[in-house]
Amino acid sequence: AKECGRNQFYFFNEQMQSEAEKVAELCNALQFAIENREFELHYQPLVCAKTHRILNVEALVRWRHQGKLIMPDEFIPVAEASGLIIELGRRVRLEAMKTLLDFHALGIDVSMSVNVSTFEFWSHDLQSCLISSIINSGNELKPDGFPYHKLTLEITESLLMKEQVHLVNSLNKLRELGIQIAIDDFGTGYSSLSYLKEFPVDTIKIDKSFIRDVQDQKQAALLTAIVALSRALNLKVTVEGIETCLQLAFVSEKNVDFIQGYFFHRPLEKDALFEVLTANLKG
Ligand code: C2E
Ligand code: CA
Ligand code: CA
Ligand code: CA
Repeated sequence: AKECGRNQFYFFNEQMQSEAEKVAELCNALQFAIENREFELHYQPLVCAKTHRILNVEALVRWRHQGKLIMPDEFIPVAEASGLIIELGRRVRLEAMKTLLDFHALGIDVSMSVNVSTFEFWSHDLQSCLISSIINSGNELKPDGFPYHKLTLEITESLLMKEQVHLVNSLNKLRELGIQIAIDDFGTGYSSLSYLKEFPVDTIKIDKSFIRDVQDQKQAALLTAIVALSRALNLKVTVEGIETCLQLAFVSEKNVDFIQGYFFHRPLEKDALFEVLTANLKG
């Protein structure tokens, strides 16, 4: 048994070694990808729960690498661990803001949501960073005239558990500009609900795990309770991950504000989004 244990130990070690090598390789590739602009944004609409009109689009980053499209779950964790997320996040926000202005210039009134990593909040002052990237954008964006109220930053619940004072200050500064704050993946963290009264947020985005199985009584009860809680606190509610008619019928009864999911729209490239938004305005 001892020997077996030892073998397992060696095996485990080798695995860890190759994992570490893989991470290091990925890290190098990411650095290169940032320099070579291999990242692109796709945009997934959020529709009004009542009219099904598109009110907002969420920017989701993809990595176009050697002909393949790599999804964020595969590289965001490494980008965070290596600190590259700072530069990646900056570029994502800049591109998303440019897209927002492009659409406004075409007479399309829509809002933009951008995901912000926990790590970015810890490591710098996001408000100053946002303004300086606007200033450094080569005059395409202008800090004074920017429609900040059309910008939502999505942060995850896990962020809210740490460095509370710093975070409250940071969120307040963003909201002074008019930027909206949404709590993403709501209901999946382990923190206490008291942060809803501590933190200045506008929207709760209920995690897709809460609508996966609409027949599940407990799940339905939780969803109803979260919506009621949000209403009591004057927060807007988004439900994500709506894929089926049945799920749509279920959430339509729940008095939510925004719905997002493959049932309506998948994440789209900018050109395809433009078509959809144009049709949406006419329709
Ligand atoms: P998220 O912010 O919770 O985004 C929702 C994810 O669910 C997206 O995956 C989206 O494509 C997917 N989704 C949308 N509708 C449906 C549906 O009806 N059913 C199902 N099963 N899935 C749906 P994606 O694009 O792979 O992004 C994964 C995660 O990566 C995001 O989760 C977000 O946490 C992170 N991420 C994406 N872009 C960025 C970024 O620019 N910066 C940072 N920091 N994180 C990002
Ligand atoms: Ca999100
Ligand atoms: Ca989410
Ligand atoms: Ca997520």
